[in-house]
Amino acid sequence: MIAQYRKIKAEHSEYLLFYRMGDFYELFFEDAILGADLLSITLTKRGSANGLPIPMAGIPHHSSKSYFQKLVDKNITFAICEQIGTVNKHAKTPIEREVTKIITPGTVLDEDFMQDTKTHALISLFLSGKTFGIGYLNLSQNKIEFTECTNIEDIKRLITLYDPSEILIAEKQKEHFKSLHNLTIRPDWDFYQQANYKKLCEHFNVSNLNALSIENKPVIVSVIGSILKYISFTKQDNIHKINNISEIVDHNEIKLDQATLNHMIFGTNKNDTSSLYHFLNHTKTPMGERLLRTWCGKPTLNHNELYDRQKIIQQLIKNNSVLSFQNLLKGCHDLERCSARLQKKSIKPNELLKLSNSLKKLPELHQSLSSMHSLEYLRIIPLNELVDIIDKTIFNYLESENTDQKHYIINDGINDELDKFRQLSAHSTFIATFEKQEQARINNFKIKVGYNKLQGYFIEIPKSQNVVVPENYIRRQTLKSAERYITAELEAFEKTIITNQTKAKALEQKLYEHFIDSLQCYVTNLIQLSDAISKLDVLQSMAYCAKDHWVQPEFCDSSSIIDIRKGFHPIVAKSLDQGFIANDTYLDSEQCLSIITGPNMGGKSTYMRQTALIVVLAYMGSMVPAKHCRLGKVDQIFTRIGANDDITKGQSTFMVEMQETAFIMRNATNQSLIIMDEIGRGTSTFDGLSIAYACASQIANKIKSLCLFATHYFELTQLDSQYPSISNWHVSAKEDQDELIFLHKVLKGAANKSYGIAVAQLAGIPADTILSAKEKLHQLEMKKSQLSTPSLSTNFIISEIQSIDINNLSPKEAWDYLSKLKELIDETVI
Ligand code: ATP
Repeated sequence: MIAQYRKIKAEHSEYLLFYRMGDFYELFFEDAILGADLLSITLTKRGSANGLPIPMAGIPHHSSKSYFQKLVDKNITFAICEQIGTVNKHAKTPIEREVTKIITPGTVLDEDFMQDTKTHALISLFLSGKTFGIGYLNLSQNKIEFTECTNIEDIKRLITLYDPSEILIAEKQKEHFKSLHNLTIRPDWDFYQQANYKKLCEHFNVSNLNALSIENKPVIVSVIGSILKYISFTKQDNIHKINNISEIVDHNEIKLDQATLNHMIFGTNKNDTSSLYHFLNHTKTPMGERLLRTWCGKPTLNHNELYDRQKIIQQLIKNNSVLSFQNLLKGCHDLERCSARLQKKSIKPNELLKLSNSLKKLPELHQSLSSMHSLEYLRIIPLNELVDIIDKTIFNYLESENTDQKHYIINDGINDELDKFRQLSAHSTFIATFEKQEQARINNFKIKVGYNKLQGYFIEIPKSQNVVVPENYIRRQTLKSAERYITAELEAFEKTIITNQTKAKALEQKLYEHFIDSLQCYVTNLIQLSDAISKLDVLQSMAYCAKDHWVQPEFCDSSSIIDIRKGFHPIVAKSLDQGFIANDTYLDSEQCLSIITGPNMGGKSTYMRQTALIVVLAYMGSMVPAKHCRLGKVDQIFTRIGANDDITKGQSTFMVEMQETAFIMRNATNQSLIIMDEIGRGTSTFDGLSIAYACASQIANKIKSLCLFATHYFELTQLDSQYPSISNWHVSAKEDQDELIFLHKVLKGAANKSYGIAVAQLAGIPADTILSAKEKLHQLEMKKSQLSTPSLSTNFIISEIQSIDINNLSPKEAWDYLSKLKELIDETVI
């Protein structure tokens, strides 16, 4: 057996191998040690190999789902090896076994293993020359999406957006993608373009790839081919269902860079409650929650879609009906995955019951939406017929108290033959009569007729009763306190029951399969319905957040403009005890860059982020936290926030900062919104200042993006006198008897002071250190004013020289003038 195990394990060496032995799945050797740790199960030993005991850990077959679920949650891939031959007690070789399924986090479709809110999906990446190919598959949708790009930043952005559980890459390209997580290394030949070209033609039944628009995209052929191969490799029987491929097009979407997605939209980790997604999430269904994630990451520029969403949100608020919709949606089953499983014919009976229960809410939803005139956008059409068919056909085990029936799938009365087998296999009446009959035969001593899988039916008589049993009793088993017997009559009965039960089960399975076939005509309706319910769920969630006087934004595509009045940061405002100070933002193509100065803690970051969030919310179709909002077209949002390093990848804080800045400078356009929260701080003052200066002037004069640029370099405030497109703003604060008071109001003009030491004092830096800092600051300021004098004088001297009219100057006058200037210069240099 161990030899067989080793052979199978060698073919699946990279996965935990669950090896079926009777009622258990066993793990051996290193797998046992790892599995025992991951699943908190007992590590034991069995037999020995090379003189050492073989570690073993097992899980019972009947409760394996909960263990497998744990592994899926931990993103662990594992293989299930089943017994496929029949047991022959006399055979000398072990029963035949084979890996029947490889469960990977990105390809799992089994309802029991999937997390409700997580999209179980995979991405495949391949680099050819300078082009990256990206393929994305969500098995619940039967569709592969793809795109090409030329930089790793775009890949990271898409990964944050799609949140795949697995990323396939070729063995030879490990180095290129080492900064990514959840990598699954696949053999290089999975990505071979020529072989994949053939495979794709076969799979999609086409003679060339023109029809799929990828004839001239070899890198895409590589990634899509690798995905199909991987699905076959995991032994998913639904590969043929992948019948569609489409390009990921974001022409109609605002592209959010990875920093924006991480810092503002989704948060840096799953528990980050300061993200927009977390704030907006009051959804009540799993598919609604997933759709909200998509809308947060992909704001749309489609005005019709936006107006439709806005209309419904406004009606929900006006009719005060958010809570009643939330109640209706609560507990609604995951219709998206349910329809995918119905289509793949892997749906289980209890899921059909859940589906039917959810569908029973449709008439009320339909009614409420029709009174809001919203059925055109949210096509929620009741599927009463489907509810009736399911309820009539599928046995509802939750409503049945009869334990004999607990394994039923199909209701009584659906098929005569099934009813007949069931009658013949019903044992409770026989057992009750038989028990009475036998009790009478042994002078009414207490007996029990029972059943277990190992011995079948038996008559159990407690030893304490000292009964002399009838002659036809055959002893089966002796227990500590009882004896167990059978009789020929009981044996014959058992045989009839088992035969009829087996026949009933087989027939029931066949009937169930036919039933699922007959439901295929509802799949399209269910997909549409799932889509509509998800949208309704997201819209009620956005209405829930908007009910506190948010405003409907206006869109004007003709110009580049952001005009927000009395805007506020929804998440910071919610977290504050005291009132949030609302602020205006105005940027357009003439006045495209605002330099924002002011004390630390003054509210610069909050102000800039609230502007970006309001733009994202508006283009999700939501109301926005402001009194007025008018927006022009925005193609991308870029953010440069805070300091991150990546020391494990050899990237210093400053390097990361510069890479992010470089990405913005290269990719932003005149329709982009840029949030620059401090740049050039990780290096020497002069270097940093020069970089910040150059970036600000390039953005304002060359790229012409709309940009909020926060800085502590006061020197940058001079830019507004040089360039009309740059203006100065500051967050206000005042000092009252050595106490710093933040006013958080954004006002025109530059700040006059940095208040850094006052903030350090507030933060608790010891008094003597603060005193020493103040002394140093005083010295530096003195020195700076001394140093700046010559430059002022130089300006003065230059302007003096410029003002001389040389043609009207006598030699004597020229000499006098020159000596006066020399005197002046001598004075200032000293
Ligand atoms: P630093 O320069 O140190 O990064 P900052 O100027 O960016 O500071 P923020 O981080 O934006 O300051 O704000 C600091 C805190 O001030 C916030 O956490 C919030 O509590 C409060 N705050 C910011 N803006 C406002 C506002 N408009 N109204 C009320 N409180 C605010």
